[in-house]
Amino acid sequence: MKYAIIIPDGCADFAVDSLGGKTPLQAANLPAMDAIARAGMVGQSDNVPLHLPAGSEVANMTLFGYDPNRFFTGRAPIETAAQGITLGPDDWAIRCNMVTILNQIMVDFTAGHISTDESRRILETAQQVLGSNRWEFAPGVSYRNLLMYRGQSGVPSPFSRETKTSAPHDLTDGTVLDDFPRGPGCDLLTEMMQQSAELLKSHPVNSERKSKGLREATHFWLWGLGKTPSLESFQSRYGLRGAMITAVDLLRGLAVLVGWDRIEAPGATGYLDTNYAGKGQAAIEALSNYDIVCVHIEAPDEASHEGRVDEKIKALEAIDREIVAPIHQALQRYGDYRILITPDHPTPVSTKKHSHGWVPFATCGTGIKSSGHGSYDEVAAAASGVQIKDGWELMPNWIAGKL
Ligand SMILES: [Zn+2]
Repeated sequence: MKYAIIIPDGCADFAVDSLGGKTPLQAANLPAMDAIARAGMVGQSDNVPLHLPAGSEVANMTLFGYDPNRFFTGRAPIETAAQGITLGPDDWAIRCNMVTILNQIMVDFTAGHISTDESRRILETAQQVLGSNRWEFAPGVSYRNLLMYRGQSGVPSPFSRETKTSAPHDLTDGTVLDDFPRGPGCDLLTEMMQQSAELLKSHPVNSERKSKGLREATHFWLWGLGKTPSLESFQSRYGLRGAMITAVDLLRGLAVLVGWDRIEAPGATGYLDTNYAGKGQAAIEALSNYDIVCVHIEAPDEASHEGRVDEKIKALEAIDREIVAPIHQALQRYGDYRILITPDHPTPVSTKKHSHGWVPFATCGTGIKSSGHGSYDEVAAAASGVQIKDGWELMPNWIAGKL
């Protein structure tokens, strides 16, 4: 049996006025996803408990079948796993975004999609000026970087599970004043953020960006801190060897933590310009070597964060045409297979933010009866009456053929 999961990040949405009251999934032309809905079933799952952050870090852990109430420790330690950085028992990982804040407003949580090279140059300076044997910066991809706090054994940690931070992508266009770190150790984090603003004011990378008319990185935004979670491997849980195709460190990290291999597709960017066909092709090749292959596409989420409904529809149609259709066709050569389409969480274009709530899924294949619903979208999924309140039960039931 072969299994494929396709995750169009943040694709779940609300009715949009400019689409005549349709959601982007309803308005987009998605013949391959609709065919899966028709051949099998649609339903809804709720992937993020209300007390946890509505984001990919929790929602994808849920999709993999791990209860985030038990296993989620924070976003940053998942990304450190992706980078092969080891955290000791007293260490904390902290997400360090390059952001643009003007007049206390979060104008851009990506600092104009600053390049990986520019971020690296900034963090080299930061390590010299702000770093120490306690504070260690680690460059990631584009605006997504990391800061490690190296603790000492026997010395109480300044941070705890009660240290609260705000995700910068949830602050877009709003004031940041109420969203600096709170709780144990918050003063250390806030001080580092303030020092970063001083350092960035005069950094050559910003002078260059200014002269090109690009947004400057005004601050490091620190958030999502945590220690390494311990997850039982996917193979020992489900008996399946898995592979992940994604351009985002968070998903690479989750793959590392559950013991999946990562496959890098050429031209995968984690943005609207990603090489969709390259990801589809990489997945088809991976199916010959693995039992379960997961393709994650960040583009619909990015389009939502920018409030661009046309780009969201374009991304969904490209996923349908270049990823879902060819993978579904390839799976049929294996005889027994199941395919699952599901976003992690909703990211409505109207709010530009991740949110809690139901997401629609569609699946078909061996042992899944046709329910006769011919469309993959939020409305059809709600009408199906299939609701998985604890989203982490979707994976074990799907693999066991009990949906
Ligand atoms: Zn997401």
